[in-house]
Amino acid sequence: MNGWLPSATDVILSVILSQIVIYGQSVYLHRCLAHHSVTLHPAVRFLFRLSIWLLLGSNPREWVAAHRLHHRHADTEEDPHSPLFEGLWVVTFRGSKLNRVACSDPALVDRLAKDVPRDFVDRMPFGQRYGGIALTLIVFATWAGPVHMLWIYLLAFAQILAGVGIVNGLGHLPGPQVSGHIGRNLRSFALLTAGESLHANHHASPANARLAARRWEFDPGWWLIFMLRHCKLAEVRRLR
Ligand SMILES: [Zn+2]
Ligand SMILES: [Zn+2]
Repeated sequence: MNGWLPSATDVILSVILSQIVIYGQSVYLHRCLAHHSVTLHPAVRFLFRLSIWLLLGSNPREWVAAHRLHHRHADTEEDPHSPLFEGLWVVTFRGSKLNRVACSDPALVDRLAKDVPRDFVDRMPFGQRYGGIALTLIVFATWAGPVHMLWIYLLAFAQILAGVGIVNGLGHLPGPQVSGHIGRNLRSFALLTAGESLHANHHASPANARLAARRWEFDPGWWLIFMLRHCKLAEVRRLR
């Protein structure tokens, strides 16, 4: 790899890494931990948790607490990340900051996420939030050099932010599908967001492990759960 421009390898790696994060958010943080719609084998949970630590840095207990606040107060001022009150760009580019602000009270996190146990990352003496990302950047810088490390990271980060903007931002802006429902179904983005852009379906039935509800709605997160279940690595708790 030479030069200052991103290589094809950088682009492909960024897509793979961002999709790992997006599936980790959807299947592990969202459907498994926040809604208990699916139970994952401990080995699968470990791999998802490791990937979240290495690539994203989110704390699962805070993520679950903020998401439960979102369901409880969707589209109101108490919603931790409402584009109606914060604006689309803030929700997209500062979404993790909004979640951290909403979870600044540890007692609130303990109460909202009491069913989410502290894990091996929480028990590490340091580097719980950014240690994994630092490790990933060091590995990529050593393997591909600092320029390509930066491209891989920036491209992956941009795709993750785009996913956040689609689901939490566009998925909650007023539009033709919002009447009578919370959220919007953005079918054209479903393949990029592990099915999470079928957001009105999710708010209508939050405990459902499958987000697609109609013909021509695609939920790749469910396809992964389906395969894991076939391999006895996942158990679907709710499907309605
Ligand atoms: Zn929502
Ligand atoms: Zn949810």
